[in-house]
Amino acid sequence: MNSGVRIYTRSEHCISRKQISDNALKVLYQLQKAGFDAYLVGGCVRDLLLGREPKDFDVATNAEPEQVRKVFRNCRLIGRRFRLAHVHFGREVIEVATFRGAGEARNDDQVLNKEGRLLRDNVYGTIEEDVWRRDFTVNALYYNIKDFSVVDYTSGMADHKAGILRLIGDPETRFREDPVRMLRAVRFAVKLGFHIHPECEKSMHDVAELLASIPSARLYDEALKLFMSGYALQTFEMLRHYGLFQVLFPATENSLAIEDEGFPRLLLIKALENSDNRIAEGKTVTAYFLFAAFLWDAVQIRAHQKLAKGIAEFVAYQEAANEVIAMQVKSTALPRHITLAMREVWSLQPKFNAQFGSKPSRLITHPRFRAGYDFLLLRAQTGGADLELAKWWETYQNANENEQRKMTAPPRQAKTSNSPRKRNYRKKSSASSTVNSE
Ligand code: ATP
Ligand code: MG
Repeated sequence: MNSGVRIYTRSEHCISRKQISDNALKVLYQLQKAGFDAYLVGGCVRDLLLGREPKDFDVATNAEPEQVRKVFRNCRLIGRRFRLAHVHFGREVIEVATFRGAGEARNDDQVLNKEGRLLRDNVYGTIEEDVWRRDFTVNALYYNIKDFSVVDYTSGMADHKAGILRLIGDPETRFREDPVRMLRAVRFAVKLGFHIHPECEKSMHDVAELLASIPSARLYDEALKLFMSGYALQTFEMLRHYGLFQVLFPATENSLAIEDEGFPRLLLIKALENSDNRIAEGKTVTAYFLFAAFLWDAVQIRAHQKLAKGIAEFVAYQEAANEVIAMQVKSTALPRHITLAMREVWSLQPKFNAQFGSKPSRLITHPRFRAGYDFLLLRAQTGGADLELAKWWETYQNANENEQRKMTAPPRQAKTSNSPRKRNYRKKSSASSTVNSE
């Protein structure tokens, strides 16, 4: 393994202390004052070199966790597998990790399973050793607070300039050690606009299915990072390209294979697009809404199979939702509050068909009304629900009480009104045929 080090002095790179958070600087300086080495490392260095604001600042040091704790009052040690120090400044947390020993020489503290997955590695080491356990060369650049230089053991700087994501060491070995690195490759490629190195790409195709061995709770965390960061559509496409998406969302992948009367399923694509647009506009997005969109078609397909067997509509949809969720949580452990919210969004759909009497005014007070309505709109925009119905609800929710009462008056009393309710009333049956009509 190449162990030549290249030091980029302050004048040879663009990172300035002005871009670094004050709290991260405090941590670096205090460690240095206490006689330790202290570096910024990982995503923050990579992002600073691109002139981007890092999500968070990670520090690497030769101080052991207990020693770090003695330097800071506002410090907590966390983690069982890796002991890490978290230094708290109000809402900002600076993570301080002790250099870890890794590399090719395995010892008792580094345990691999039979697929080559790294189960434990908690030996401390030097910066030269710490480098080799990191994933991509661009994530293994160290900004030294002592002289403001960037320390590069893996030609990360050259890869960074060329926009390449290259695993340190043998790609297949590194993906086997931790298959989540494949998801990280996709996430960074999309976020940074970098290319995955061809050798890494090849290994990803070869070992994609190993991702299935990762605990579902960790995959859920990764899925959130992948889909909630503003590049969901591109991420989805790239994950499918490498055969990774099917591990995360097997039921969705199956439903994508079944075209709807010759038309590709658009709801999911539209949901991803909307989510990215909302993030670009600074609006919030919710995970449950996106996951409800991911699995909607799978629920529909299953429910239709049950209906064909003569199972009652309400039961068919309930069972379909149960089965799809039960299958999903095995791959990505969606927490209960998320699956509950997804079910609510789904089960609100048939309720939008009621446009008369007291039901609309009750529906509008439902805590998930807005999400349910947004979902209806998504279905309507992609051919899965009546567009007129969605428009009616748009008008209804923005109307005052008096107008709302007029809109929901039974059709016989509505002769003088110019609302499109008659047409909607007839269309009701076509919309209800695709969803659970509780
Ligand atoms: P971002 O925080 O922007 O998502 P990041 O690269 O900082 O990206 P983190 O998860 O914060 O990602 O990890 C910090 C650093 O720790 C990484 O840059 C990398 O050097 C190392 N690292 C994290 N996860 C792994 C992993 N699974 N395998 C090897 N190294 C890793
Ligand atoms: Mg980070």
